[in-house]
Amino acid sequence: MKSKFIKIEYKTLEAMIGLYCRDLHGTVTHNLCADCGQLLTYAKARLDKCPYQEQKPTCAKCPIHCYKPAMREKVRNVMRYAGPRMLKHHPLLAIRHLLHGRSEAPPPRKG
Ligand SMILES: [Zn+2]
Repeated sequence: MKSKFIKIEYKTLEAMIGLYCRDLHGTVTHNLCADCGQLLTYAKARLDKCPYQEQKPTCAKCPIHCYKPAMREKVRNVMRYAGPRMLKHHPLLAIRHLLHGRSEAPPPRKG
């Protein structure tokens, strides 16, 4: 069972990658191209393994940087594009993401 928090993170990722893919790759919403589908799967897998879970900061602030360099570059492009547009399309998720981005990362849990 995934926590509510992780589910919201999933939703935010899906919304951002979906927006990016639709606008830049011409795909229909909820139907990602192969490349973006792979990125989403990868990002979700990283989220599952994130040691912070409930205390997770936004990835921009996270001290771990668990993404492979190539994937990090892709996700950064997605965030840069979708970030400002999220306010219009998914205001609640966007505001939550902005507020969340202000909190600092706690020290990683041991063990
Ligand atoms: Zn795409």
